Amino acid sequence: MAPTTSGAFTAHLRGDGTIELVTSSPVRVRFAPSPTGYLHIGGARTALFNWLFARQCGGEFMLRIEDTDSERSRPELIDVIFRSLEWLGLDWDGTPVHQSERGHLHQAAVDKLLGTGAAYWCDCTPDAVKARAEARGGTPGYDGFCAERNLENGDGRVVRFRVPSAGSTAFEDLIRGRVSFENENLEDFVILRSNGTPMFHLANAVDDADQGITHVVRGEDLINVTPKVILIREALAIEGDLTFAHLPLIVNEKRQKLSKRRDDVSVGDYIDRGYLAEAMVNYLATLGWGPPDDIEIRPLAEIVSLFRLEDVNKSGAFFDVKKLQHFNGEYIRNLSTTQFVNSSTRWLYEDAPWPAERFDIATFEVLAPLVQERVKLLSEVPGYVDFVFNADPIIDDDSWQKVMVKGAELAAAVLDHALAGFADCEWTAAGLEAALFSYAEQNEISKGKVQAPVRVSVTGRSVGPPLFESLEVLGRDETLRRLNAAKERL
Ligand code: GLU
Repeated sequence: MAPTTSGAFTAHLRGDGTIELVTSSPVRVRFAPSPTGYLHIGGARTALFNWLFARQCGGEFMLRIEDTDSERSRPELIDVIFRSLEWLGLDWDGTPVHQSERGHLHQAAVDKLLGTGAAYWCDCTPDAVKARAEARGGTPGYDGFCAERNLENGDGRVVRFRVPSAGSTAFEDLIRGRVSFENENLEDFVILRSNGTPMFHLANAVDDADQGITHVVRGEDLINVTPKVILIREALAIEGDLTFAHLPLIVNEKRQKLSKRRDDVSVGDYIDRGYLAEAMVNYLATLGWGPPDDIEIRPLAEIVSLFRLEDVNKSGAFFDVKKLQHFNGEYIRNLSTTQFVNSSTRWLYEDAPWPAERFDIATFEVLAPLVQERVKLLSEVPGYVDFVFNADPIIDDDSWQKVMVKGAELAAAVLDHALAGFADCEWTAAGLEAALFSYAEQNEISKGKVQAPVRVSVTGRSVGPPLFESLEVLGRDETLRRLNAAKERL
């Protein structure tokens, strides 16, 4: 039986049937984003799975910015990617490497490949390649036109890799098993652009070797690149094993690949919406992997010890925003009140729906535990407390229509009852509750129906924090003023 390798250990089957774990070379993985966009959900999941694998087996997690495509790279995004990784808590080892600063290594590799005949210069324009393919009537792609022309370097020329015409290029993927590509289906691909910059797969292969990477863990969308990388490694006589693990695609509810146009994909969007990093990381860990005991919401340290790259699924992982929100709500409820107040800071002070001078943190702290029980996103927090910090409640039209217009008769009666009862009841949640619910008892209607008109009058909405605690915070005079104002508006 072939040894199976996971992380820093190799399992050898002994003659007596027992298994011996032998320490193998240390694991070194990398996350290699191209700064052509923000860090999106798929990239964050790739970074996380690399990080989990490295942290679990005492390996290293490196960062490499793949910025050789000067036309598509946006240097200003590199910092955003770093900040997003930091927010997620995915700390990296060593200093991030920028491919654009390693041109000499890539050029040396191209020279070597040209020198051995594994690569050649080509002067075909894309139009010429296309026209010949059409004339052939066959599959599109490059036909090896320059393979034997022995061209030298020259203006507008590219370097192509000479793919063997027969045989296949195969590898054992830790997740997908054996993956094989027929060489006849691979064209002689470009490794150096006409502007002198290396193509992605050349730089990728060279840098993985130079950085001593042992495992490439990346999205399935890059699986077609892998045979090219393997062919380049072979042609450069790169020693050492490189193990591949291609993670399943992340799909939306229509089973379509998450797209930047259709779906919210950037980590920054989720930060802005009030997700907690811990919830996000925990949820991302479930995209293609699950713990053996099926308990999904759990501390990251436990995930680190339970995670196995071999246990990652092959089939697409559904990015379920509702489930992510559920995770987030659970994490919010697990915060201490102080942590919750601190996490909410941004939503209380920036673009808050009340005049800044009316905000009072001590008042917010009183309401905070009640709000914490109810929100799934931190961005929902202002909507739960804005009634206290505005001179008048912001009336939600739908709530008003439903409760105060359709239910006008009951609303008027309840408001009269509340105004009378609240005028001299004890100003505590319990006192207020007793004063209002006596109406429900006398008239045999539900407590919910009786609360609704008071809630809409005082807070403007039909959902919010517990009513009587809210009234207690708001105070008697203001509560009575708002009930009177609503009665007039009825
Ligand atoms: N730079 C590639 C990308 O952002 C990833 C390459 C790799 O992980 O090998 O899609």
